[in-house]
Amino acid sequence: MIVIIGSINMDLVLRVPRMPHPGETLSGGQFRTIPGGKGANQAVACARLSADSVKVAMIACLGDDAFGAELRAALRSDGIDDTHVSTIKGVASGVASILVDAGGQNSIVLAAGANDALSPAHIDAARALIEQSRIVVLQLETPLPTIRHAIKLAHELGKVVVLNPAPAQALPSDLLAQVQYLIPNEIEAAMLAGLPEASLDSDAAIDAAIATLRASGSDKVLVTLGAKGVYAALSSGSVHFAAQPTKAIDTTAAGDTFIGGFVAALAEGRSEADAIAFAQRAAALSVARIGAQTSIPYRHELEA
Ligand code: ATP
Repeated sequence: MIVIIGSINMDLVLRVPRMPHPGETLSGGQFRTIPGGKGANQAVACARLSADSVKVAMIACLGDDAFGAELRAALRSDGIDDTHVSTIKGVASGVASILVDAGGQNSIVLAAGANDALSPAHIDAARALIEQSRIVVLQLETPLPTIRHAIKLAHELGKVVVLNPAPAQALPSDLLAQVQYLIPNEIEAAMLAGLPEASLDSDAAIDAAIATLRASGSDKVLVTLGAKGVYAALSSGSVHFAAQPTKAIDTTAAGDTFIGGFVAALAEGRSEADAIAFAQRAAALSVARIGAQTSIPYRHELEA
């Protein structure tokens, strides 16, 4: 079993001819609500990309509103165990208000809502679920004390802990030392290593950042580099894996799809190199489609 601990949001996506100025009212184009949130996206990617024998469960919080019901139904439709997805009374579900302009540029405002209610008590209540799992996956869109608590428990129980440190923020080294696979993008890797954002412009620079992360406790580090692929520091050494060529339309959830694919492949015993190749094929399919969960591919599409 794979357990994902993290956020669930409804993405409110509105197409606009251009970004509005302060105080301005603009007429927009198409409006869509699309299930999202890094935690839910990664759970959906795991569920769609796993072998049938691998179960996927989520530990998370939703609001007691219409979005909450819709988001829960979306998890269930992908076969995700939602027993430990709690509904928080009197609180709104997490939302991301997203404007996308004619050039494809987006601007996003997040309201965490019920995601902020995920507490160490929710993690303790799901201890049996974590005990049954092999891999536990987390991100940083829920409260840090809860994430720390969950990582400590999963580590003590001998689970493989995967952390996607997004959105970017500095993290204490005792937490990093309990993570087996740290999977940041370039910006998050630079931030964690205490370097300027644009400094990871070569394999040597990424290697230096990873050396800093390892000195502060990280084990294996996979830095995702968008169209440039993945730079992975594994037990066997460091390797730059090229991305799968594709025509990118919308990169939303590319990182989440990569993580879901990587974890799904690890869960069925594939090697790290195979898991990275599988995950990059899945992520390449996702960037050729619009939206978060709408763009995440199914296993049969990769087998085709
Ligand atoms: P997001 O926040 O948009 O979900 P991210 O910044 O977390 O993404 P990226 O590093 O942009 O993650 O992308 C993750 C993976 O997706 C890459 O390692 C790569 O395999 C794949 N990918 C992303 N963009 C492209 C692209 N233009 N062409 C091919 N593959 C891509």
